[in-house]
Amino acid sequence: MSVCQTCGACCASLRVDFHPAELAGGAYAWADGVPLAMTLPVTAKIVRMRGTDAAPPRCVALEGEIGGAVRCTIYDARPSPCREFDVEHAACARARRQCGLPPLLA
Ligand code: SF4
Ligand code: SF4
Repeated sequence: MSVCQTCGACCASLRVDFHPAELAGGAYAWADGVPLAMTLPVTAKIVRMRGTDAAPPRCVALEGEIGGAVRCTIYDARPSPCREFDVEHAACARARRQCGLPPLLA
């Protein structure tokens, strides 16, 4: 199990915006694409994962308990910001702190 499967902090602290072409049926969709119902329209060129701008934020696609066991229910189809984010990202430690988790040891 990867450390991210026992964390989930970035999915519960960061806003996740991407181009509608990554939605299901879109020209740049990964796998089956992000289900439209899991998103909110922001502009003609931006959609947002539902829940990521809530207070407190939590992506609608995230299952499980932050800091326990978590799973992205659309992992194969997750949008590019999620694909580009990992433990090397400076915001990883910030996200973990925001969720009350210690930064990962180097
Ligand atoms: S905050 Fe960091 S450790 Fe936690 S799930 Fe995201 S990338 Fe993984
Ligand atoms: S789509 Fe998946 S990886 Fe991306 S924020 Fe939501 S739960 Fe996390």
